[in-house]
Amino acid sequence: MDEPLIERMRTYGETIFAEMTRLAVETDSVNLGQGFPDTDGPRSLLENASRHILEGVNQYPPGPGRPELRQAVSRYRSRHHGLDLDPDTEVYVTVGATAGIAASLLALVERGDEVIVFEPMYDSYAAMISLAGGVRRPVALRRDDATGRFTFDPAELRSAVTPRTRLIMVNTPHNPTGTVFTAEEMAEIAAVCRDHDLIAVTDEVYEFLTFDDRPHVPLATLPGMRERTLSISSVGKMFAVTAWKTGWVSGPEPLVRAVRTVNQFLTFSANGALQLAIADAIDNEGAWVERQRVAMQAKRDRLAEGLSGAGFDVNVSEGTYFLMADVRPLGYLDGEDVARALPREAGVAAVPAKVFYDHQDEGRHLVRFAFCKKDEVLDEAVARLGRWGRSGS
Ligand code: PMP
Ligand code: GLN
Repeated sequence: MDEPLIERMRTYGETIFAEMTRLAVETDSVNLGQGFPDTDGPRSLLENASRHILEGVNQYPPGPGRPELRQAVSRYRSRHHGLDLDPDTEVYVTVGATAGIAASLLALVERGDEVIVFEPMYDSYAAMISLAGGVRRPVALRRDDATGRFTFDPAELRSAVTPRTRLIMVNTPHNPTGTVFTAEEMAEIAAVCRDHDLIAVTDEVYEFLTFDDRPHVPLATLPGMRERTLSISSVGKMFAVTAWKTGWVSGPEPLVRAVRTVNQFLTFSANGALQLAIADAIDNEGAWVERQRVAMQAKRDRLAEGLSGAGFDVNVSEGTYFLMADVRPLGYLDGEDVARALPREAGVAAVPAKVFYDHQDEGRHLVRFAFCKKDEVLDEAVARLGRWGRSGS
């Protein structure tokens, strides 16, 4: 049979996360590749979900999501960020952030429209822009040697805008670099959106995982941005339950309505009982979220120190589950070669950063490690990488 897959999706094979997790399982490796925690979310969340299932909350919820969850989302966006959202028309529940991203891009990107993305970029953005028939305009995040963090050149961002530009994807805290955009960077992005009448779609799944007292500032809170910004979040990272695949988009009614029109034919609705439990946790488990942030920051430090000791050049991570490490001090040029060799040679899985770039040379030397793991798991990974580094040099 000729290749049945539509042409514009042919460059997309198995996702790097699935591939690396499979390799990790096959080789019994410590999996610092795919970003999922190895401890559970708050006990009350798990118990409430079980209770709701046993009590019979097992049929379709309303398409836009359970009102309890939409109201809880509206309350926390107001409490944390002063954003005022109508839970009936401005909040919409999706099957994870992944479905929120897919529905947003399919709903808002016309064939031939250009979409600005910061690279490295989360893998689903590229695939969904392609599926929508859009064109990516990547703007590089590069390491600033003065601070060790990844940032963009405002002039490069401005020159990426053309008359065909429709939308900009903004992910902060940023996967995979760990960058949390500063107030100046956010102001720059907002100015570009206002000057060129662009829609912003923000991926804020790591909104509660910023470190060292850095605030998470939603783009929607900047002047002139509320009416043009669609914000996407997920319970997966908020409460460390990545399997629950429940997220939400929020923003002005016309943008949310556009997403709703598309999403009703993608998934129609998300789960039921989980949404009720999540609503309760958003209202009542704020202290757990704060403890998780503190714990994750310490894990970042633990892994960063361990990887430096093993010979990697570790970049600054200001948030998320991830940090990026440069393999060149270990005598390698290509992070993909290293990431593909590590499971068999060292018993550790990681993700080559190259796959997150259109301009792959930009990320050739980088490997992404996840630190959302138990301390003993991180220590074991570091010990294995230390032995591997010494045996190779
Ligand atoms: N965006 C980013 C930046 C992510 O890292 C992830 C993975 N959690 C997602 C979206 C997808 O989130 P979900 O699992 O809720 O679909
Ligand atoms: N968001 C997770 C990561 O970046 C993986 C999600 C997935 O497997 N698609 O590792």
